[in-house]
Amino acid sequence: MKKNLPNIISSNKYDVCIVGSGAGGGMVAKVLAESGVKVVVLEAGPMWYSETHGDMFKWNYDSPRRGAAIPERHFGEFDACLGGWELEGEPYTHEAGTQWQWFRGRMLGGRTHHWGRISLRFGPDDFKGRSKDGAGDDWPISYEHVSPYYDKVEELIGMFGTEEGIYNEPGGKYLPPPKPRCYELLVKKAGRKLDIPVIPSRLSILTKPHNGRPACHYCGQCGRGCATNSNFSSPSVLLRPALSSGNLDIIPHAMVREVLTNGDGLATGVSYVDTQTLEEFQIKANVVVLAASACSSARIMLNSKSSQHPNGVGNSSDVVGRYLNDTVGTSVAGIVPILMGGKPRNEDGVGGMHVYIPWWLDNKKLDFRRGYHLEVWGGRGMPGYGFGGGIHRYNGVDYAMGNKREKGGGGYGQSLKDDYRNFYGATVGFSGRGEMIARYDNRCYIDEDTVDKYGIPVLKFDVNFSDEEHNMCKHIHETARELIHTMGGTAVTPMPTKESGYGIQTPGSIIHEVGTTRMGLDARTSVLNAHCQSHDVKNLFVADAGPFTSQAHKNTTLTIMALAWRTADYILDQSKKGAFQG
Ligand SMILES: Cc1cc2nc3c(=O)[nH]c(=O)nc-3n(C[C@H](O)[C@H](O)[C@H](O)COP(=O)(O)OP(=O)(O)OC[C@H]3O[C@@H](n4cnc5c(N)ncnc54)[C@H](O)[C@@H]3O)c2cc1C
Ligand code: SF4
Repeated sequence: MKKNLPNIISSNKYDVCIVGSGAGGGMVAKVLAESGVKVVVLEAGPMWYSETHGDMFKWNYDSPRRGAAIPERHFGEFDACLGGWELEGEPYTHEAGTQWQWFRGRMLGGRTHHWGRISLRFGPDDFKGRSKDGAGDDWPISYEHVSPYYDKVEELIGMFGTEEGIYNEPGGKYLPPPKPRCYELLVKKAGRKLDIPVIPSRLSILTKPHNGRPACHYCGQCGRGCATNSNFSSPSVLLRPALSSGNLDIIPHAMVREVLTNGDGLATGVSYVDTQTLEEFQIKANVVVLAASACSSARIMLNSKSSQHPNGVGNSSDVVGRYLNDTVGTSVAGIVPILMGGKPRNEDGVGGMHVYIPWWLDNKKLDFRRGYHLEVWGGRGMPGYGFGGGIHRYNGVDYAMGNKREKGGGGYGQSLKDDYRNFYGATVGFSGRGEMIARYDNRCYIDEDTVDKYGIPVLKFDVNFSDEEHNMCKHIHETARELIHTMGGTAVTPMPTKESGYGIQTPGSIIHEVGTTRMGLDARTSVLNAHCQSHDVKNLFVADAGPFTSQAHKNTTLTIMALAWRTADYILDQSKKGAFQG
């Protein structure tokens, strides 16, 4: 159902129209605009720059809520993301009996202002899962196709890390990593005892001045947006130089409804709703690139129905929205007595882990086929609202310096303060992040009964995990407990039951949704070709995580950017050959 509003045709015609300004859209805009292509970016949210809009230098006590979450800032009042799991007037629905959480950013730069900056390359095996273990499908491209683009992205945005010589965890162009913090040294020691590798993490944060941006000064508040631009966000690293080229226009508050096509079925531009005035506009372009994030791009394609594309644009395969998957996630926290009641230590550092645990086992001996990594957290960061996750949880646990505690944690007054001081900095945790196998039946599709406040039909989700993912979570819990135990600590997260899927988090909640417009060699079973170009519509491309044929357990954003750059290069090459002349 469309709103009954006039369509206003913009007089500008662009070479390329990009939908979305996050990691993928920002990268395509930069590469194209700097090459002389006339580009327009349509962004559903407002303009937002870290140095002017961010809250990096505030203390929690500057807020009456001590930085606690508010509906539009789910990760805390000072978090640098306008958006969240639920957006007022923009619902999504579920197939009965299923769950999916969908985190949407609504601002210039999308979710790249507050993301964790964990930037892991996919390895050679990650592009050929089916050949290796028979599950899912191989990508139509290999590591060798993407590796030069990983190099270019890493050199551009600046990342720290180390090359460790692990075959499926290839290293890249790195700045030196920061030193491990105190609790991270304990994790390394435990890892050595258990033969589990603990290596420097790989984050897109500058430990040295890089490409005109200053080095990180270790305030540890990356999630609030970095006022000095010492970490990566799309506006600071991609869109600003693209704007300087004079070839980029950005239209904020522009919620794209659909891709417009002509009688030949080719894309001619997009229509969008101005979210402030609710007027409807059209933008004309020779090429359309969808980079609205995996599910939003699928939604736009499915809503773009015409006589040439009755099933949605680029959806002759009926695969748009299918193979949706998220990273498998579950976490374990523990208290380590040697860290309790200690004197304040200098735990300065970046806003994220300084070490992590890459996948280290051979799956032939396990009851799940794909790998996971462990992200490490803990220490003495600035306490947020609800610090300690509820100190009453420590009641009755016999880990206080090896002594039987006379009372439980919590209570009132001085003894509560003493407990907080005692436990502060003694928590160490591990978040397992594993690969979910992409399956045809896991999907999002248009809910024909529900529209959002702009009159645009919304997505319905139908995603389920299998035993394979549950078994992986069991292994994550057992491993994390062993690490905490080897550090002399006690896990405070209860061991989850089989019935609970071994503590697996709701699908979507790890915010690595991928696969809705997967690439492949066969137009009958995939949406895009190896250049992220629609099989059906040659001037339509997708540049977010939709094209991923499989997930890998590695966080998605570095690969989104590498593929987006590769796609932009292909658009340039094809444009020079006149492929998209309107
Ligand atoms: C708290 C958090 C931590 C994370 N940590 C990591 C991490 O450590 N490592 C990692 O790799 N990834 C991480 N991620 C995921 C990462 O943020 C995403 O992978 C990345 O931002 C995806 O980029 P994108 O360009 O596809 O989408 P986005 O960054 O979401 O950008 C999409 C943009 O499109 C706009 N848009 C959507 N629909 C429309 C429409 N119809 N019309 C116009 N515009 C539209 C949105 O407003 C948004 O600005 C994290 C995410 C969160 C929320
Ligand atoms: S820790 Fe470093 S990169 Fe992160 S916000 Fe602070 S200065 Fe910026």
